[in-house]
Order: sequence, then C-alpha cells, then structure tokens
Amino acid sequence: MVQRNDRASWITGGRVRCSDPPRTAPPKPFRFVLLGAPGVGKGTQADLIGDHFRVCHLSTGDVFRAAKQLSADGNASPNLVKALEYMRKGELVPDEIVLELIRERSRCMTCCGGFILDGFPRTVAQAEALSELLKEKGVSLTAVLNYQLPEERLVARLSGRRVCPDCRAVFHISGHPPRKEGVCDHCGGSLYQREDDSPESIRVRMQQYEANTGPLIRYYSHRGQLITIEAEGSPEEIFQRTRDALRQYLPANQ
Ligand code: AMP
Repeated sequence: MVQRNDRASWITGGRVRCSDPPRTAPPKPFRFVLLGAPGVGKGTQADLIGDHFRVCHLSTGDVFRAAKQLSADGNASPNLVKALEYMRKGELVPDEIVLELIRERSRCMTCCGGFILDGFPRTVAQAEALSELLKEKGVSLTAVLNYQLPEERLVARLSGRRVCPDCRAVFHISGHPPRKEGVCDHCGGSLYQREDDSPESIRVRMQQYEANTGPLIRYYSHRGQLITIEAEGSPEEIFQRTRDALRQYLPANQ
C-alpha cells in the first residue's frame, strides 16, 4: 500500500500543518473535484489519482469521520457535534457548517501540490462558495470528474462495503473480500461497516444525491469544466478511463 501524506492540515484544520508537505511543486498543480453518487468508487479513484499525480486526497467525509473520535472524547465543537448527527442519518450536513469547515482548511486550496476534492462540493451553494474562495486565492480548478453508475449497482456496492479504520483500505464482501474475514489485508485492522452504509441511510443518501447533484452537474457543465466517466469495471479499468479523459491536461510522460 502506498504511504500517504498524513493530510493533517485537512483532517484537523486550523493551524495544524502536514508532517510531509510537498517539496517540489509542479508548474501547474492539478486541482480536481470528484463527483459521483455514494458507492460509485470515488474514494478509490481519488486515491489512485492522488498516488499517480501526487495530489492530496481531500475528503469532507474523512474530516467528519475523524471528528467522531474528537466527539467521543468531548473535544468536538458544537458545529461538529451537530454535523455528526446529520451524517449518522445519512443526511447532508447543512451548507453553513460545511463551508465553515472548508474555510478553516483554505490553506489546502493553495497548497503547491494541488488537490482532489472528494465529497465537496455537494450542492450548488457549496460550488459557488468554492468558486469564490478559489478566486480569492488566485487559483482555479483543472477539471471536475463526474463518475456514473446505475443505482442498483451503487446499492449493491454500498451494502457490501467494509472499511479499515486504520489505513482506510476498502473491501467488498463479495466483489473484493479480504483474505481473512473481517481483517484488513494491508495492516491487520478490524474491518467495519460504515454507519451510513446501513440500508436506511443508503436510501436517504441516494435521494439526497439525486436532489442535489443534478443542479451541481449542470452548474459545472455550463462552465465547460465537467468530464463524465463510466464507473463500471475494476478500479484499474476506471482509472485508465480517467487518465484517458484527462490526457488533454497532462504532460506527455503522464
Ligand atoms: P462521504 O464520505 O463523502 O460519503 O460523506 C459521508 C457523510 O458526510 C455524508 O453522507 C454527509 O452526511 C456528510 N458530508 C460529507 N461531505 C459533505 C458535504 N460537502 N456537504 C454535506 N454533507 C457532507
């Protein structure tokens, strides 16, 4: 498994600095947004893209999941405690809470290594706020990647998903099972099912996605930034499609 940056600036926010910031910056850092319904495999693609193009995978879901521990220790802000309630039910966290969290992490937007945003923006209001923030910082998005898969395939992927809490590896009980049931192949962590991968939460998340993402896709499509990618097949096949779709942005050797 690839050794990843600790993303401390992103996960913790505020003044916290990453332990291993990028030392050499490409002349034009990649700044991607990833869109796609829950279960489409965005997180896996974000990691593959991140490893290949050396950009940091910034997931808002990861920030909220990390906040769970803070909350258990009684150290989470009232806003984070509120956000976790929405998350538990599979509902979207209100825009103002998400945007505050993003503003606290705005340093990541100008990181010379670039970024892949996964799970943000999720609404047009969030996309407009991101656009303002990037304009303020004098940077722009490279492209918005939109992964697509039929709904019944999404539900099957989500309900069988198992995640390692330690190294974040993702398995599937039938599609990509671990060698030993319930144990991470990479680090031996105890695999778990995300709370929001329960059948009830999955249903709510799908409805919310449908309601919010249609307008978001139109928003980026009108701006000529949207690239749509079929998410059928293995992670490697989907990644190959992603690289093909991004060819116009890449130097010849990538
Ligand atoms: P994810 O890992 O991206 O599926 O996010 C998990 C959960 O975190 C979502 O179901 C939401 O409850 C919450 N969440 C993450 N990102 C956002 C966002 N940009 N806007 C609203 N809620 C979010």
